[in-house]
Parts: sequence; structure tokens; C-alpha cells
Amino acid sequence: MASVSVRSVHKSFDDLAVIHGVSIDINDGEFLVLVGPSGCGKSTLLRMIAGLEDINDGEIAIGDTVVNDMAPKARDVAMVFQNYALYPHMTVRQNMGFSLRLRREDKNMIRERVDSAAQILGLTQLLNRLPRQLSGGERQRVAMGRAIVRDPQVFLFDEPLSNLDAKLRVQMRTEIKALHQRLRTTSVYVTHDQVEAMTMAERIVVMNLGRVEQVGRPLDLYDRPANLFVAGFIGSPA
Ligand code: ADP
Ligand code: MG
Repeated sequence: MASVSVRSVHKSFDDLAVIHGVSIDINDGEFLVLVGPSGCGKSTLLRMIAGLEDINDGEIAIGDTVVNDMAPKARDVAMVFQNYALYPHMTVRQNMGFSLRLRREDKNMIRERVDSAAQILGLTQLLNRLPRQLSGGERQRVAMGRAIVRDPQVFLFDEPLSNLDAKLRVQMRTEIKALHQRLRTTSVYVTHDQVEAMTMAERIVVMNLGRVEQVGRPLDLYDRPANLFVAGFIGSPA
């Protein structure tokens, strides 16, 4: 586990500035939710933490290490996407162990890590199935399993539930929170869904147009929104 510190980060795509000096401190072991309307820069920010986008100015640190120039692989973060492409020809066990096999980890170690993640996620009975033999929720759990087996310092979730139906989304929220209670891995969870943010977050960061509007605990934002945007977005009258 590790803290994550985003310090005065700027990002442009060609001439289009999309992140305007964002600073966020994520505590060791915290579950932080980043919320804001579509296009406000949430994915870009996560991708910069993961090392999938470079940053134009400012710095990002994981633990005590500034990672600006560090390759994604060296950062020890695991990302869970909304489009969790599983390898269709591989079983659940093979999908979950794939990144460890790429790293040429010991076979017994891989088996143990996959078994342990499968137990946590309730996938033990499904390890020999192919993705097409799974429900949407089970596939999402396998996608999380792939992140867990790597035992990363930080989890980055980018709208992982937005492809699921409403009922399953509510169930998976609870499961992801339970997982966090158990592992306490520092987590940054991106969503554009206010209810998801309010129910899952220890602290919420509200973003708009590439800037942070407010940071706080869910009820603090609800009771004391800093401005009309936060009030409107979180859904309390200003
Ligand atoms: P969010 O995840 O909050 O919906 P994004 O981080 O995906 O927002 O996008 C923020 C802004 O950056 C948007 O205006 C988007 O069109 C733009 N953007 C994102 N990625 C690229 C890219 N690779 N090239 C050009 N513009 C991009
Ligand atoms: Mg996005």
C-alpha cells in the first residue's frame, strides 16, 4: 500500500488544455472517489497516475517516489476498466494469472495467488470456465481478480460498473467495498454517478472542466457544498 500525491498537474492534448493544475492527496489505504461530468478529465487523471499518459507540468508521487518518468509496469498500480476485455480463449484461471505468467513468476506462486483471489471474489467454482460461460457480474469479478493477483500498491478503477445493469451495479458496489475492507489497498475510483460516489467513498473529489471543485467526506459535501456546481452535482440545495 502507498499514498498517492498529485501535485499541480497540467495536461494538454495538442492545443486543448484538459487538466488545469490539479492537486489531490490520496492517503495510504484510502478509498477515494473521483466524480464529475463526462469529459471533465477523470480518465486522463487516472491514466497519468498509471503512467499511460505523460504529464505536461507538475508531479505525481506514489509513496515517497516521484513517478513522472517511471514506466507503467514499474509503478505497481493495477487498473480496472469499464471494458474489461478478458481473453476469450483462456479460462478464468488463465485470465487471472496472465500478468504473472508474463512476468515469469513461479508457477506455484501463480496458482496460490489465483486461488486466493478467486476465494476472495467467490470465483473458486468458476476457475475452469471460459469468459463466454460467465455472467456480466462474474466477468467483472474476473477483471478485478486480474488486478488483485498482482497485489499492487494502488488500485485505479475507471467506471468499472458502467456496463452492468442497475441491480448488478448496486451489488458490485457492495462487493468492491467489501474487498477494500479486506485488502485495504489504496484505491482511486472514478465514476460520473453521484449515488455511487456518495455510497462508496471515504472522501470524494468533485471535478469539473479539468479542475478540482471540492474535496471532502460525502456528507460534508452534501451539507456544505463549496459552490453551486458541487451543490447541483451532489444533489443538495445550495
Ligand atoms: P472523463 O473521463 O472525465 O469523461 P477524459 O479524461 O476522458 O474525461 O477527457 C477529458 C478531455 O480530454 C475531453 O475533452 C476529451 O475529449 C479529451 N481527451 C481525452 N483523451 C484525449 C486524447 N487522447 N486526445 C485528445 N483529447 C483527449
Ligand atoms: Mg472517462
